Amino acid sequence: MSTIDLRSDTVTQPTAEMKAAMVAAPLGDDVMGEDPTVNALEARVAAILGKEAAVFTCTATQANQIAVRLHTRPGDEILIHRTGHIGLYEAGAPAAISGVSMRQLDGDRGLLDVATLEALPWPDDPHFTRTRLLCLENTTNIAGGRVYPLERMQTLGQWAGQQGLRSHLDGARFFNATVAARYQPAQIAECVDTVTLCFSKGLGCPMGAILAGSAEAMHQARRVRKMLGGGMRQAGMMAAAARYALDHHIDALAHDHSHARQLANGLAQLSPVAIDTAAVETNLVFFDLDPDWGTPATLISQLAELGVKVGGIYQQRMRAATHRDVTTEQIEIAVEAFAKVLR
Ligand SMILES: *Cc1c(COP(=O)(O)O)cnc(C)c1O
Repeated sequence: MSTIDLRSDTVTQPTAEMKAAMVAAPLGDDVMGEDPTVNALEARVAAILGKEAAVFTCTATQANQIAVRLHTRPGDEILIHRTGHIGLYEAGAPAAISGVSMRQLDGDRGLLDVATLEALPWPDDPHFTRTRLLCLENTTNIAGGRVYPLERMQTLGQWAGQQGLRSHLDGARFFNATVAARYQPAQIAECVDTVTLCFSKGLGCPMGAILAGSAEAMHQARRVRKMLGGGMRQAGMMAAAARYALDHHIDALAHDHSHARQLANGLAQLSPVAIDTAAVETNLVFFDLDPDWGTPATLISQLAELGVKVGGIYQQRMRAATHRDVTTEQIEIAVEAFAKVLR
């Protein structure tokens, strides 16, 4: 029985072609700026995003935390949605690494809006924390794989600029957003000062992420990356995978999105599941399990016996992520497994 692993889009395995590209890549010492494959990747991403420069990192968490550190001073405050990964899933790094606090805000399904931000009290008064950085997430993760409408991003970015705030986009699933909403990468990147992209999720690389921004910011980012232990050497092996993914794996994200809809429609037929199928915009499917049926832990173990893996989020909330290693037929099999267990 083959396993259908829907716990995360991070479980993807590199393809033979990707591995071949990694093996063939010319390498050098990247801390010395001499890895041609890393340099080519950084230049390529900067061009795609319309930014001056980019810095290859180990993970998206590292890229995000380099950005937080760059944009803030100890004692500053970040504005972020309460479901934001930087605040919830990065092990308390903003406080531990940069000495900053976070104002974790409400907003419809993970999206912030200017009305909420404008209503915040934050006068230039010695009693208040200095607000310094606006963090956005596109697509949203825990808030449901949702895509920021371009206009909303533009308005938020402009507002941040007018307030003298820096802005950062956690684009761990950036290309899921551009593929789903059909906007140009640079249109989104233009709204913010710095952007994180992740290669180890839907793009299918074994590891790697990148931070892009101004040349000056990326110059500083290299020092922060070194401080955080992210100065890699012949990192071109990993950058080659990322370059391969940029060439070959972006368009296929559309299949992941249609698989997510297929899965959501299947789950909607099952009475112990509460799901808003219209909220499934990309590759993440969130649903709530009726407590009268049982706990997510029970469902997870019964599905695992049928070869299907899904994840629990909190309380009765659960998540399934589609990705390039799951086929249309496997989604059908997964839906059948859910139906069998939840009948
Ligand atoms: C997964 C994820 C990250 C972190 O990615 P890693 O590369 O695993 O550190 C950051 N932000 C969001 C929104 C994510 O979903």
